[in-house]
Amino acid sequence: MNKDIWIIAEHFENRVRPVTSDLVAFARKMGGEVKAVILGHPVKPLAEDVAQKTGCEVTGIDSPGAAVYNSEVYRNLIKKLCERNQPRYLLVPHTPLGWDFAPALAVDLGYSSISAVTDFNPENSTFIRQILNGKLLEELKSPPGCSAVVTVMPGSANPEPDNTRPPGSVKILEFESPPVKTRTIRYLPAKPGTVNLKDAEVIVAAGRGLKVPERIELIRELASLFKRGAVGASRPLCDQGWLPLEHQVGMTGATVSPKLYLACGISGALQHTMGMKNSSLIVAVNTDRKAPILQVAHFCVNTDLSKFIPVLIKNIRKFRG
Ligand SMILES: Cc1cc2nc3c(=O)[nH]c(=O)nc-3n(C[C@H](O)[C@H](O)[C@H](O)COP(=O)(O)OP(=O)(O)OC[C@H]3O[C@@H](n4cnc5c(N)ncnc54)[C@H](O)[C@@H]3O)c2cc1C
Repeated sequence: MNKDIWIIAEHFENRVRPVTSDLVAFARKMGGEVKAVILGHPVKPLAEDVAQKTGCEVTGIDSPGAAVYNSEVYRNLIKKLCERNQPRYLLVPHTPLGWDFAPALAVDLGYSSISAVTDFNPENSTFIRQILNGKLLEELKSPPGCSAVVTVMPGSANPEPDNTRPPGSVKILEFESPPVKTRTIRYLPAKPGTVNLKDAEVIVAAGRGLKVPERIELIRELASLFKRGAVGASRPLCDQGWLPLEHQVGMTGATVSPKLYLACGISGALQHTMGMKNSSLIVAVNTDRKAPILQVAHFCVNTDLSKFIPVLIKNIRKFRG
């Protein structure tokens, strides 16, 4: 085993995804030699793009089977590479693609599997992740001498701007398609949304603190007072069918950065905050003074939303005459 940290670059429709730069930044924070691996067919243009943007030494694995993402192909080909080079850590984005292949790859390789980390402490080589909706932090470490496959939450490190460093070298390795038992048939585009959260200047977002679906009307009414206002939601509300999925903000929903994000009854789980933490002004309405949302909020209104929102609506109306 050497001390190398490898990151697995992610791409879709011939474009390297920004999460790749997050992984490189996270790996550099850990220290040690950082190398990038990318799989595809043809992979060269993608590998060159990663090398150009991040300055990493890039290994492109070119195989016809990797033309479209397939978990078995990824596992088979990355395993071949790891057996030759034995990196210390293999960092994978904590995205649907990463969740799909990373734990199984760790099993194939006999490595530790560590998931959803947000930080690394170089002093004792421990990874840190949030548990229980961000109320506790957990420290994890692979045993001495054991490499690890680690999934890293997007947004866990601040990437350098693209092309800051001189481009890295690119090496392409060609492999036959490994035998597989599954194949991806096609990607289906999501239904076009009726809500354009990305263009909204003010998002009034509702969480489980609403308690009853009838209070969605309060949220809608407040959002409607702003010219470019929209209603956002945490995942449980969409899962319960209180609001359609296109309102969901966070890891499995939209990433937004409005001028004002009013989080009403939202605890601030990492999966939610990663989709809204770059908003210019974040105000949390929450009865819990210790809710994790306060780590990203600029202001907190520490009260019951069912009392506060009607007063806010009344005052905005009054102020506008
Ligand atoms: C793989 C995965 C992906 C996920 N993706 C997403 C995602 O994209 N987006 C997302 O949002 N979540 C996502 N989640 C879920 C996430 O982990 C949290 O469970 C979810 O965000 C919690 O929603 P919440 O804040 O509405 O509810 P809770 O965590 O239950 O918080 C409710 C909050 O309301 C407050 N409250 C209660 N009563 C009142 C009141 N009367 N007035 C004011 N405040 C009150 C409470 O103090 C609490 O802070 C994901 C989870 C997983 C495992």
